[in-house]
Amino acid sequence: GQCVLVCPTGALGERDETDRAIDYICDPDLVTVVQFAPAVRVAFGEEFGMPPGTNVEGHIATACRKLGFDVVLDTNFAADVVIMEEGAELLGRLKAGRRPTFTSCCPAWIDFAEIHYPEILPLLSSTRSPQQVLSAIAKTWLPGKLGVAPDRIRVISVMPCVAKKEEATRPQLARDGRPDTDLVLTTREFARLLRREGIDLKTLEPSGFDSPFLREYSGAGAIFGTTGGVMEAALRTVYAIVNGRELEQIELTQLRGFEGIREARVDLGGQVGEVRVAMVHGLGDTRALVDSVLAGRADYDFIEVMACPGGCVDGGGSLRSKKAYLPLAQKRRETIYAVDRAARVRQSHNNPQVQALYRDFLGAPNSELAHQLLHTSYEDRRRELKHTVKEIWDDITMST
Ligand code: SF4
Repeated sequence: GQCVLVCPTGALGERDETDRAIDYICDPDLVTVVQFAPAVRVAFGEEFGMPPGTNVEGHIATACRKLGFDVVLDTNFAADVVIMEEGAELLGRLKAGRRPTFTSCCPAWIDFAEIHYPEILPLLSSTRSPQQVLSAIAKTWLPGKLGVAPDRIRVISVMPCVAKKEEATRPQLARDGRPDTDLVLTTREFARLLRREGIDLKTLEPSGFDSPFLREYSGAGAIFGTTGGVMEAALRTVYAIVNGRELEQIELTQLRGFEGIREARVDLGGQVGEVRVAMVHGLGDTRALVDSVLAGRADYDFIEVMACPGGCVDGGGSLRSKKAYLPLAQKRRETIYAVDRAARVRQSHNNPQVQALYRDFLGAPNSELAHQLLHTSYEDRRRELKHTVKEIWDDITMST
């Protein structure tokens, strides 16, 4: 992009990740694509003194453009694609009697499962997270649409989450040796970048997204940011696939709440019938739930896991509520549900741009190409679990 930024100098001391963002923007050979997560738009305004829960989606788009990013995309679009993939996968597993299926969009949960419960990895959905789905599309489909070589694209994502940084570097998610997501900035870092460049979010005029292909999202994609949202989004789509018509009572209020573990029964009709689902957030409750599943004390078809209490609206990369379930998370989540209520399209499968992506590029959900680009695998990392004082000590002494 055209670089109007205050460029980093050594005098500023240690380089941080925001410097890398500026390097990308200032490199005339690169095309920068920025994406931001469902939860960011309802938590970011607080960094600039706006009331908790203000939806600053349009302000963020303007800020990105002012910074000089070339293409501003919305991770909500990819959340809809995740539902297409995960929904099809879930249905296949239900029909085959494989249960339960765990969601896979929270990388801190994936790390936790790989290190503490590798025996459950076959139960995890293989669908990549929205961040990685959007990055994969940005590196494979978008270049043709934009008329630029794929190796000139750099994807920067703004996430409420520290674990997304590590996710971006997973070898399973690299393409030709390069990561699909080149840089992850937390919400806090993105705020720092704006302040450094003298941009005050509050004073900006909201604007829309650039890409005519990847900017629409459904209400289902929007609610990914809060605990229970992925479950609700998935069930809206699975119901429609099974029954050939939409769920009448679209807001699955029985899935909403802030209790650490919530469970519900939902009648999906047709060949599938009633399913038992659970939603858990916070790693303490996650451990309790996984232990129950492994011990045969819990019987579910589908389980949503979010490592942060409250889900991404109170994620570890954003300004946090002092105590889980308290005002900030509540306000942010109310806004997310309001976005869903106001959305023109409320189911992922009805997002016209998602339909176009499948028609023009991917074929069908879970197609061979979709598998190659939008799914992943997991690794037993139990060896990283430290059991003894000696192991911990060896680790410390080896790394110093
Ligand atoms: Fe990241 Fe927390 Fe959201 Fe998981 S729940 S994706 S760790 S912000």
